[in-house]
Amino acid sequence: MSEQSSNQFEIVVIGAGIAGASVAYELAAGARVAVLEMESQPGYHTTGRSAAVYSEIYGPAPMRALTSQSRAFYKNPPAVFGREPLLTPRGVLYIARSDQSDSLEKLKQAIAGQPGVSSVDAEEIQRLSPLLRPGYAVEGLFEENARGIDVNALHQGYLRGLRERGGEVITNAEVMSAERDTGVWTVSTRNGDFSAPVVINATGAWADEFAARAGVKPVGLVPMRRTALIVATPDGVNPEPWPVTVDADEQFYMKPDAGRLLISPADETPSEPCDAQPEEMDIAICIDRIQQAFALDIRRVENSWAGLRTFVDDHAPVCGFDPDAEGFFWLAGQGGYGIQSAPGLSQLAAKLVIGGPLPDGLEARGFKIDDVSPARLRY
Ligand SMILES: Cc1cc2nc3c(=O)[nH]c(=O)nc-3n(C[C@H](O)[C@H](O)[C@H](O)COP(=O)(O)OP(=O)(O)OC[C@H]3O[C@@H](n4cnc5c(N)ncnc54)[C@H](O)[C@@H]3O)c2cc1C
Repeated sequence: MSEQSSNQFEIVVIGAGIAGASVAYELAAGARVAVLEMESQPGYHTTGRSAAVYSEIYGPAPMRALTSQSRAFYKNPPAVFGREPLLTPRGVLYIARSDQSDSLEKLKQAIAGQPGVSSVDAEEIQRLSPLLRPGYAVEGLFEENARGIDVNALHQGYLRGLRERGGEVITNAEVMSAERDTGVWTVSTRNGDFSAPVVINATGAWADEFAARAGVKPVGLVPMRRTALIVATPDGVNPEPWPVTVDADEQFYMKPDAGRLLISPADETPSEPCDAQPEEMDIAICIDRIQQAFALDIRRVENSWAGLRTFVDDHAPVCGFDPDAEGFFWLAGQGGYGIQSAPGLSQLAAKLVIGGPLPDGLEARGFKIDDVSPARLRY
C-alpha cells in the first residue's frame, strides 16, 4: 500500500481526549477511522484533569439526559474496558447555608422528578459529610446514585477498543490546516497528510481555533479554567464513605480521593486554549472557602492542577454536522460533564455521523437534538 493510500480514511477524528476516543471507538465498528492527537499522550489536557464524578443531576438538561443515557454502558461495558467496574459508589451532596435557600430551590426545580435524589436536613448533612462545621449547612440534596468514574480505564478502554476494531491513533500530529476538495477533507500535520470525507472536531478547548484552521466559522466556545488541589485528611480519619460535597452555588466542592481530599474553588475563569496551570490566587481562594465550610486545617497542598472546561453560552454540548461546511462534524463544548456523558454522547454522535436514528431511549429522557445542534449557535 502506498503512503498516500494508507492515510486515506472514511473518518478522521481530531483530538484524542475522551470525546475523540469515544466517538472513534463507536464509529470504528463500521468505518475506517483515524484519530490525530497533537500531544505525545492522549488525555494530556482536560480529560486527564477531571474530578471523575458521575452525577445525573449535574449540568443542563441535555447533558443530564446524555449522562443518564450513559449509565447502561458504564454498568455493562464491553470486555475491552477491563474487569474492574468503571463506576464506584460516591454520592453527591449539595449543601446550602441559610442564605442559599433560593439556589437550592432552583436546583430542586431543575431536576424535579429525577429518581434517587432526596432532600436532607442539617442533621443528615452532618452525618453524611462529618467534616462540615456543625451548623454550616441547613439544608441539602443528596444524590445517592452518583458515582466516581475510573477515567483512565474508560479512556484507555476506548483507545484499546478502537485499535481492536482496526482504528488508528496517531500522536504528535497537530492538525495545522484542513481543506475540502471534491468531497474530501485533507488535514495536514507534521506527521503527514490525512484525508477522509468526514472530519470530526473533538479538540476540546481548541475547537473554535481548529474550526478556523479549517476555514469553518466558530460557534462561540469559551474555555474556562478550573483548579483542583489534593490535601491530606485529618489524622486517623477515613474519608472514603463520604460523598462529594458541593456548595449550592458551586463555589467549592470536596471529594474523597484515595484516602486524601480533592478540593476545588469551582472557578470558571475564561482562558485561551492552553496547557492550563493553577494560579496562586485560585489556590488561596480554594483553601479559604474549604476551611470556612469544613473543620480542616490545610497546612500543605500535596498536588494541584488546572484544566479547561469549554462551554458555549447555554452550556449544552455542540454535536452535529456544521450547517455551512460539508463533512465537518462538531463534538465539543462538553464543559464540566464530558466524562460522565461520554458513552451517551459518543453513541449519539456516531448515529449522527452515519445518519441513523437517535439512540434508543434518548428522546424518552426529554432530549431534543436541536438543543445540541451547531446550527443553534449560528446567528
Ligand atoms: C478540574 C476539572 C474537573 C472536572 N470534573 C469532571 C467531572 O467530575 N465529571 C465530568 O464528566 N467531567 C469533568 N470535567 C470535564 C471533562 O474533563 C471534560 O468535559 C472532558 O475531558 C472534555 O474532553 P475532550 O476530549 O473534549 O477534551 P480534551 O481532553 O482536552 O481533548 C482534546 C484533545 O484535542 C487535542 N487537540 C487540540 N487541538 C488539536 C489539533 N489542532 N490537532 C490535533 N489534536 C488537537 C488536544 O491535545 C487534546 O488532547 C472536569 C474538568 C476539569 C478541568
